[in-house]
Amino acid sequence: MRCPYCSSKDNKVIDSRAADGGDSIRRRRECLKCTRRFTTREHVEQRVRLVVIKKDGTRVPFDRQKILVGLERACYKRPIPTDSLQKIVDLVEEELYRKYEREVEAIVIGKTLAEHLKQLDQIAYVRFASVYKQFRDLDDFLAEVKEVLNTDTKDATNQGRLF
Ligand SMILES: [Zn+2]
Repeated sequence: MRCPYCSSKDNKVIDSRAADGGDSIRRRRECLKCTRRFTTREHVEQRVRLVVIKKDGTRVPFDRQKILVGLERACYKRPIPTDSLQKIVDLVEEELYRKYEREVEAIVIGKTLAEHLKQLDQIAYVRFASVYKQFRDLDDFLAEVKEVLNTDTKDATNQGRLF
């Protein structure tokens, strides 16, 4: 079981208790590497598929392939290996299943993905954020771009055209 924060596989169980009326066991774990704590749930296979609530209120099944395609689009022509994107999707999926029982808003997924992407590639992050946030106006968007470019002055190669 990988740590959702640092991906380390080493952790210890610090608490176990029955959950869901005895249908599952909830384990509190502590990562041995970063010492952060997270919860895992053990239950009989056939987990409820996460449902995504879209902006207009409609609901669709969680689809990791769709998420990967969105990320790939944001990372178009950026020097990012597909493995890294797969890893982000893994982490985000795990995080969502851990935090949300049945339903999660699309905006939450976007936000979680953006946080991970930001650490990986700033340009891809801005592209992605511009889609999921649907910036209210141009000023919002420019402020975000400016922030990214300011924090990225040491790497001149990242200052190319955004789109
Ligand atoms: Zn960790």
